[in-house]
This record gives sequence, structure tokens and C-alpha cells, in this order.
Amino acid sequence: MANLRFLRGYNDAVVLGLARSGAVTRVELADRSGLTPQAVSKVVSRLIDDGLLVESGTRNVGVGKPRTLLKLVADSRLALGAQVERDELRVVLTDLAGTVLDRAVAPLPRDFDPPTFVAELNRLVDGLRSERLLGVGIGFVGPLDHRTGVVHYPTGLSEWHDVPLRALAERRLGLPVVLDKDTNTAVVAEAWRRGEELRDAVLVLVGTGLGIGMLLDGRVHRGVRTNAGEYGHTTLQLDGPPCVCGRSGCIEALHNLAAARGDLVEATSIVGVAVADLVQLLDIDHVVLAGRAVLAEPAAYLDGVRARLPKDEWLPVDVSITPLGDDVVAAGAAMLLLSEFYGRPR
Ligand SMILES: [Zn+2]
Repeated sequence: MANLRFLRGYNDAVVLGLARSGAVTRVELADRSGLTPQAVSKVVSRLIDDGLLVESGTRNVGVGKPRTLLKLVADSRLALGAQVERDELRVVLTDLAGTVLDRAVAPLPRDFDPPTFVAELNRLVDGLRSERLLGVGIGFVGPLDHRTGVVHYPTGLSEWHDVPLRALAERRLGLPVVLDKDTNTAVVAEAWRRGEELRDAVLVLVGTGLGIGMLLDGRVHRGVRTNAGEYGHTTLQLDGPPCVCGRSGCIEALHNLAAARGDLVEATSIVGVAVADLVQLLDIDHVVLAGRAVLAEPAAYLDGVRARLPKDEWLPVDVSITPLGDDVVAAGAAMLLLSEFYGRPR
């Protein structure tokens, strides 16, 4: 993980994490954090001085005098999130609540190399820079290592072999950077937005490739090498057409072929069958569809998936299209960075 130098310490992060979900009193902060009232009072006055918290109204608590409420100042700090597709770079600016305030989009040349990418990222980031910026989250096509920030060898990008992208970007931008797969940042965005409602869910991202982000028991599931979710390269047809990954009959290859010949029913059915398998495998109750292909034909993808799901009454699955639209991966990347800003009580 990047060293997020804006944090004075763990206690500050915990207090901010608690204030994030709504106005709180100092007494509530002490109760929920396990910190002493003295420690809370010190942290709170520091955060007020830094402009992160503001006193906002009071709450009556029966006996005794009303207690002062503290509120997070959402625009006191900002974050950037980037989505890297094989042909496009999108950067969004968010506040501490994850609300997208501004964005910049630029095409990327076919088979772009790492120096070209970092230069273009720097250009878009410069256009959105501010004193209040905490850092940049990047959602990139896999496979990559989220912990070390290294991109391994994504298909369609022949110059990328074990590229230490996080380190390169931090040096060039002069900001803390976090890197994760695009599918994971997208599911982070949905989890952030929907809170406790979303605990066991899959986000299906259908862009130039097809991948999934998994939220299992309330946490993003990344796997041992942080590469879980390469679901597009699951074999659906033994003697199927060749895929960019070197194998045959992959979900992604079948879907893209159907989409390329304009067979929307077949394309959406393939996604539907694949999602039904996931429901059986993982016992999830929410499926969120995202990505360029889905957003171009949202109703068709919704129908295609819903039609293939198990019909059992005890197995309800909510299928939706991300309301964050084209921003979901980039916004989620910003939220991933922000989530390091907010601590949880131990
Ligand atoms: Zn494949």
C-alpha cells in the first residue's frame, strides 16, 4: 500500500471513518472508537483545525445539556481515480464522499507503452490538480498485483510485462498511488455507494474484455495473487473459437464474437449463463452490470441476465445496472484510495 502521508495517525483515521457515515457527537466517537474522551477531544480539535470536521448543530440527549454534532467536510480533501482501458484513459475528481466533481477523458493509442501511458496520465491529472488532493487510484486491466503495484502482462498491451506502474506513477505525479484491477475498483464503488445492503455481490464489467469484481462477506475478494475475477477466460464451449488468452471457447471470446456480428440476444445470453453459474457457485444476491457494452444496451443485458437466473423463490437475485455509468471504474479507484483515509476501530 502507498504510504498516505496525509494521515497523522491511526486515531485520526478512525474518527474520520466514524464521522463519514453521518454527524456524530464526541461521546459517540469515544463509545464507538474505544478511545478515551480526552483522546477523542484532541483528535477532533486537530481535525477541525485542518478543516476536515466542522461543528454543526446539537443533539438533545434527555438529561444534561445538548451535545455538539460533528460533521465531515466532504470537499476538504479530494481524490483522483483513473480507469485505463485498452483504448481510453478516464480520470475523475471526487470529494471525500466519493461524489464525482469533474472528469477528463482522452483516447490512448493502440498498444500504448508504459511511458506513453504515464505521460498521458500526468497530463490529465495536471488538469484536475488541487492543493486538497490526497492521491490517485488507478483501475487497470489485469492481470496485475494490487499489493506491489505491478502490472503483469495484459492482453492487447504487448509492451507491458511486469511493469511497476504504481512506483512509476508516484514518481511522475508526486502523489500517493494505489493500483487495482478495474473490476475490483468498480465493485468498490458499488459497495461504497450501497453500504451494508451489498455483502455478497458480483460486478460484471463488459468492456473490451469481460471480468468480474467479487464482494464476498462484505470484502473485495482478490485471491492469493490478487488476480481473482478473470472470469471472462472461463471455458464455456470445449471446441469454441480461439480467445486472446490463448485458449478456446472462453466466455469473453464467445460474447465478443456474438456482439461483433450484431447478435445481441446471443451476446446477452452468454453473459446471462455465465452470471447464473456465478450465482450457483457463490450464492450471491446482487449482480451489478457495468462496462461499455452493457451501457450501450442496458435493457438487453438486464433481460439477458434475468432470463437465465435460477427461478427458485428462495433464491432471489437483484440484477441492476450501475448508476455510476462510465465513471464506475474511475470513481471506484478514487474510493479505493479514500478507503485508506478512513480507519476502522480495531
Ligand atoms: Zn480467454
